[in-house]
Amino acid sequence: MSLRQRIHRRTYPLRVSSMALGGLVVGTAMTELGASTAVWGFVLVSSLIWPHIAFLHARNSSDSHRAEHANLQIDAIIIGSWIPVMHFCALPSIALLSISIADRNHTSTRDGWLHSLFATLAAAGAVTLLLRPEPYWEASLAMQLSMLPLLLLHSVFSSWSTRQLVRKLAHQNVKLQVLSRIDPLTTLYSRDYWWQKARAALRDYRQTQASACLLIVDIDHFKRINDSFGHTVGDEVLQAIGLTIRHCLRSHDAAGRYGGDEFAVLCLHTQLDDAYAVALRIRNQLSQLRVREHPHLRVSASIGVAAADPSFLSVKDWIQAADSALYSAKDAGRDQVIPAPLLAPSAPLTRRTPPPDELGAEPEPAADDTRA
Ligand code: GH3
Ligand code: MG
Repeated sequence: MSLRQRIHRRTYPLRVSSMALGGLVVGTAMTELGASTAVWGFVLVSSLIWPHIAFLHARNSSDSHRAEHANLQIDAIIIGSWIPVMHFCALPSIALLSISIADRNHTSTRDGWLHSLFATLAAAGAVTLLLRPEPYWEASLAMQLSMLPLLLLHSVFSSWSTRQLVRKLAHQNVKLQVLSRIDPLTTLYSRDYWWQKARAALRDYRQTQASACLLIVDIDHFKRINDSFGHTVGDEVLQAIGLTIRHCLRSHDAAGRYGGDEFAVLCLHTQLDDAYAVALRIRNQLSQLRVREHPHLRVSASIGVAAADPSFLSVKDWIQAADSALYSAKDAGRDQVIPAPLLAPSAPLTRRTPPPDELGAEPEPAADDTRA
């Protein structure tokens, strides 16, 4: 049952308690100012029996939201009728009216409370014409005391519902933040969030000279996979590619989906030759990717690698460097890794960067390699 369908359950306890306590205020006024048996009967039924009828009405209705909207209008009519019954006694009338408007604002739809206000005023006018009560403005001590439970209930309910709302909002904000950080298909970081991480890495590099590398991975002829096997299989392949890339990285590396079949990987505290080895690992793992229903489907990727450089003014420059290496890989026949030339030696390389003619060869397994 949706939240929309559960609305009568939400409003039931509030209606039962506030109508009963409202009836207490009206009953106290009637005891002092007098009222006919018919009016007493109306106040008793409206304050004690009506909330249960309203609940059953909404529960048994095929559209409980619509039924609850009608119930709220009847609530408003009842409150409006109570005001002339209390001879317009200023304090309880204003208290009932303001609490009713505030509650309607909480439970009604956007325009619902305005409709309720009209219904209240119309009912007050009609009952005034019917009963022609003598206005009696002052509220006795008994009347003032009879209002206390209603005021207490209302303030406790308001603070409780505000707290619930704030909690729910905080929870949803966290959920939203997580969703905005993750690409739903590949479960890698979203482009925007990855970009934030890249910006932070470049800032760190400028401040501490901590080396960092960037990989741009583009799937070769991905359009053909879509054309030959269909978009659904294409999506499955992208999903598997995301998983494969993640498995090739260390915990402090960050992979994101940069575009359709393009992925970006940030390797922190990594020299160019180590990043190159990571790229080769990704390329090799992707070449082993298989789809059970389509055993002939093969995936290959071209990868450009670029180390952070002092000349990069923004992440854009860094991406451009990796991108031009990627284009070189595409131009050189795809299915290979090409590192961008170092613009300035930011840190000594621990291993020789393989020349382009060695690219595509299996990486030498490093003794301290912990990437699994
Ligand atoms: P190249 O080797 O030059 O990269 O060739 P390519 O076919 O991979 O060309 P390109 O990278 O320009 O095309 C990427 C294709 O990826 C185009 C688009 O139809 C497809 N694509 C993009 N996003 C999605 C997606 O979310 N799901 C699927 N199934 N396909 C996508
Ligand atoms: Mg591609």
